[in-house]
Amino acid sequence: MAAEEQKKKMMLEVVTPYQVFYEGQIEKIVLPALDGSLGILPGHSPLVVAITPGIARFEADGESRSFSLSEGFAEIAHHVVVIVSNAAEWPEQIDEARANAALERANAKLNNPANTDEQRIYARHAIRRAKTRLKLAQEQGKKKNPRFME
Ligand code: ATP
Repeated sequence: MAAEEQKKKMMLEVVTPYQVFYEGQIEKIVLPALDGSLGILPGHSPLVVAITPGIARFEADGESRSFSLSEGFAEIAHHVVVIVSNAAEWPEQIDEARANAALERANAKLNNPANTDEQRIYARHAIRRAKTRLKLAQEQGKKKNPRFME
């Protein structure tokens, strides 16, 4: 790759406890950071941010791709983004029935007064993970069936 072209790209590596989920050159990425969406372009100042369950969107070779992230952190250097997360899924990997069941269980935990504050915090995170997965799966469904887009 020519040096000028290389400057417009950065390396993305997404690692979970189970696998290297993604490794490749990208042009930009928007991350679900704890403080809100964080857009990263090549040459960004070094930074470490907490990742909260949400959708990450990036562009590679002009093509947009999205994946879901669970809790984790991202380390950003000038031309490298490393994300370490408890889980990551492509839209087509998401099992919507499982996410709906997880959402139902977590809502029940959140609304059960017998549960401790800590259990309720876990439940809130589980709700975010399930809602993220459902949103991403539904976006993918709409792409496949554009007639049904609002
Ligand atoms: P569940 O209660 O259904 O396990 P969870 O949010 O607690 O949901 P995680 O701990 O975030 O699950 O993920 C555990 C593993 O299962 C990860 O590898 C994750 O990618 C996968 N996973 C979780 N939910 C789904 C889903 N709805 N579809 C596909 N994979 C999932």
